[in-house]
Amino acid sequence: MARYHIETYGCTSNRGESRQIERALREGGHYRVDRPEEADVAILNTCTVVEKTERNMLNRARELDEETPADLVVTGCMAIAQGEAFERAGVDADVLHWDEVPEHVLNGECPTVTPDTEPILDGVVGILPIARGCMSDCSYCITKHATGKIDSPPVEENVRKARALVHAGAREIRITGQDTGVYGWDAGERTLHVLLERICEEVDGEFRIRVGMANPKGVHGIREELAQVFADHDELYNFLHIPVQSGSDNVLAEMRRQHTVDEYLEVVETFDEYLEEWTLSTDFIVGFPTETETDHQQSLELLEETRPEKINITRFSKRPGTDAAAMKGLGGQTKKDRSSEMTDRKMAVVGAAYESMVGTEREVLIVEDGTGDSMVGYDHAYRKIAIPGAEREGVELGEFVTCRVTGHNTVYALAELV
Ligand code: SF4
Repeated sequence: MARYHIETYGCTSNRGESRQIERALREGGHYRVDRPEEADVAILNTCTVVEKTERNMLNRARELDEETPADLVVTGCMAIAQGEAFERAGVDADVLHWDEVPEHVLNGECPTVTPDTEPILDGVVGILPIARGCMSDCSYCITKHATGKIDSPPVEENVRKARALVHAGAREIRITGQDTGVYGWDAGERTLHVLLERICEEVDGEFRIRVGMANPKGVHGIREELAQVFADHDELYNFLHIPVQSGSDNVLAEMRRQHTVDEYLEVVETFDEYLEEWTLSTDFIVGFPTETETDHQQSLELLEETRPEKINITRFSKRPGTDAAAMKGLGGQTKKDRSSEMTDRKMAVVGAAYESMVGTEREVLIVEDGTGDSMVGYDHAYRKIAIPGAEREGVELGEFVTCRVTGHNTVYALAELV
């Protein structure tokens, strides 16, 4: 769980990007602090409208870098257009696109939201933490220290919370946990598929469910049952987030991930068998201390082989008190180079997936305001789609609309209403 401080400059569009970042961080269990000196990470969302603004951005970045112990992330228009200016000014910051900020802050770890937190309703999105803890002991993880072993409230309790969220106005339920795949393990058997089926069948209303992070090991033993529930119920987005973290079994063993590359592949194959169109989401940690060049190449090959449409890449960083923190690390430049190489592959794979959607018609659930008069939603496979002009056309949050995909922006599609 990290405390973040965020500062946003510039137009309403930039403020919208900050809202998206904050929503993702809250979903991951992080919380906001007003004072940068109390934060674990400071985020500067920049603007670059005129030269004076640029100077102000650089000055503010220097202040945050010098005056606070927090890690600094610079994002926003100036980061994208003139990212190198921060390095030239001697600012020690990670310069990132808006979309990359949440994963960077989450640092490859699982979310820390727990069922003690009441379900959160954010617009038409309801966040439902179904359990606390996991059954793993990843060598790089600090979250585990806070959350411990899996503790799953009964299925009935989570069904009741899901129903309450839908009655309160949620059209999309985001099911979260450190590892949703091991839900129920403490009560004797993994029952994520049972919970999902019961929510779909027992909660009245029109809604969609997005299932959050589930480690490949937990899902592997219930992969057929789970894929069957996805195939049977339209309420479930055909979307599975299974962080593989590496394409090398040697690195996975050092990470103590408990799954192998083959087990991850078997989960993917099963979902391919049961579902015609679905989105695979995964995470890679790049530059783990024992990662060799061969291991890194294996990760790139796995990315190419399984072609996930959503990929979170985290450059390894040491977390205090973890076993991985005691390992001799790789050089910063090696981590940076491997991360860039993987990011290039990711953009090619993700861009090709969105390109293949151009010209198709999709039913989309609108869940967010976009920039200007656009609105943003997700299709049945949880592909992000922005529809310019939708607000002007009277489309509202929580509405299902039909649209035709006209283009893409590599990480999301653009569409027009039909
Ligand atoms: S699964 Fe691994 S990374 Fe996630 S909370 Fe458990 S120990 Fe940490």
